[in-house]
Amino acid sequence: MDYDVIIVGAGSAGCVLASRLSQDPARSVLLLEAGPDYLSAEYLPVEISNGYSMAATSGDSHYNWGYRAAGTPQQPSLMYADRGRIVGGSGAVNAQVFLRGLPEDYDGWANQGNDEWAYLKLLPYFRRLETDADIRDDFHGSDGPVPVRRFPREEWQPIQSAFYQACIDAGFPHDPDMNNPDSSGVGPVPFNTRDGVRMSTALTYLDPARHRLNLTVRGSALVRRVLFEGNRAVGVEVESGEERFSVRGSLIVLAAGGIATPQLLMLSGVGPAGHISSHGIPVVHDIPGVGQNLRDHPMFNLELEAHEGFNLDSSGPRMQVGLRYTVEGSELRNDMQLFPYNYAGPGTGDRPSGAWSANEAGVRLACMLELAESWGELMLKSADPHDPPLLDYRYLRSREDIRRVRECIRLAQRLLQHPTLASIVQGWRSPSEVDLASDEALESWMMRNVSTTQHTSGTCKMGPESEPMAVVDQYCRVRGLDGLRIADLSVAPQVVRANTNATAIMIAERVADWLR
Ligand SMILES: Cc1cc2nc3c(=O)[nH]c(=O)nc-3n(C[C@H](O)[C@H](O)[C@H](O)COP(=O)(O)OP(=O)(O)OC[C@H]3O[C@@H](n4cnc5c(N)ncnc54)[C@H](O)[C@@H]3O)c2cc1C
Repeated sequence: MDYDVIIVGAGSAGCVLASRLSQDPARSVLLLEAGPDYLSAEYLPVEISNGYSMAATSGDSHYNWGYRAAGTPQQPSLMYADRGRIVGGSGAVNAQVFLRGLPEDYDGWANQGNDEWAYLKLLPYFRRLETDADIRDDFHGSDGPVPVRRFPREEWQPIQSAFYQACIDAGFPHDPDMNNPDSSGVGPVPFNTRDGVRMSTALTYLDPARHRLNLTVRGSALVRRVLFEGNRAVGVEVESGEERFSVRGSLIVLAAGGIATPQLLMLSGVGPAGHISSHGIPVVHDIPGVGQNLRDHPMFNLELEAHEGFNLDSSGPRMQVGLRYTVEGSELRNDMQLFPYNYAGPGTGDRPSGAWSANEAGVRLACMLELAESWGELMLKSADPHDPPLLDYRYLRSREDIRRVRECIRLAQRLLQHPTLASIVQGWRSPSEVDLASDEALESWMMRNVSTTQHTSGTCKMGPESEPMAVVDQYCRVRGLDGLRIADLSVAPQVVRANTNATAIMIAERVADWLR
């Protein structure tokens, strides 16, 4: 059978597309996902449904691609780069912070020749995708699929309240709504968790659409490559069980995420011609930008020693409060996030530079550089779709990135002297007092300990014809080819100054509107 639309990847974006595009009963939609499909909320494994568990992100988890990546040349080993491999994608394993980027982020995309992505054009999509339980105003939705809420003060854990008070006393403003365009300061973080359940787009968008006879969802189906006739994409080659199938579609939409989408394009012969052909893959179309412009938020886990007797139970919410602020001397608004969380075993294994390593109990402040100057690249390791791609994030190549992170860690040092935080935290584990003793030592620690925030974006960036590294036009059509679009975070020209899930969902809503 030929489908009208084949969507590759049932992640945050893919589930939205499948739901929206199948609203028209005359359109046949096939959604293909490499990971398992649990059909409905009641069958989900507990580590997926429990929004307070990060167990599914463990490197050897059945639900994780288990990618490894280089961060800086100084790191002793490769970092884990987690991606969900399940219907729901990374949104089914993530930490559920539900933050939009700043208006300047999207206006920045528009200023690069993509005027359809200006903030005011996107606001209706951000409203459409959510139901915000706390805030009713022009910036929020009240009848969209994704439930959004903030923890009320009476539910804050001691470390969260202490951090909040330390920030207020340090002069940061109270920020009641981090999704307001003017947001800045310290306050409750919005989450897409409801009654402790991680509300991925598998639950919020796909489940209500599953009854449709024009929508077919297939889990455990790995797309190996896109098939072309001349310059037109006509289908995909899929591995399911031990067998291979070719499926034809009038339109192929790649929603495999910021890592798998560029890999899949290159495996299909679309990308930098020299690199692709060096792996013996016949070139369909030479697009040099595929896999370049690898953007992320470098993250630094500041590991702290809690006082004896401090309750480190992490069975409840790990994060509740955050600080979004502009580093002194920086011209980029809200270019830093700092937030506390406590954690306790059971461990998730040896995770060098992993964001979620939890072998022992402890308290952390996490410092995220929201708009780094440095970027990296993604290349093929081989022509085998089972081989993970080579990921090199190349963090901290810019002195300004290093300076801003150092400033944030120095701020953390000052905040920790506040009596409320000092009553919980007795000292530093990593960086150690020796690492903190000089800027040079701290910089060396940063180079060794940077990790990914899992916000990979930009690897198939959009742009006008005059931009040689653009992979798609602003309507997300792959340049020079017919019948092929991309709808995930890889199209972002630059990572937004926020956790990326809300933006991935917005991108899918935007593209779905064009396709309808
Ligand atoms: C551990 C972790 C914590 C995070 N925490 C947060 C957070 O708190 N807040 C936030 O905003 N963001 C967070 N993120 C990031 C956010 O979840 C992602 O940015 C977002 O889910 C990306 O959406 P996507 O649709 O682009 O990709 P994904 O959701 O990753 O979806 C891609 C899908 O494609 C599938 N796929 C890939 N290749 C193939 C193939 N060849 N064939 C078939 N299927 C394929 C994958 O299995 C996956 O299901 C986190 C991510 C991780 C991994």
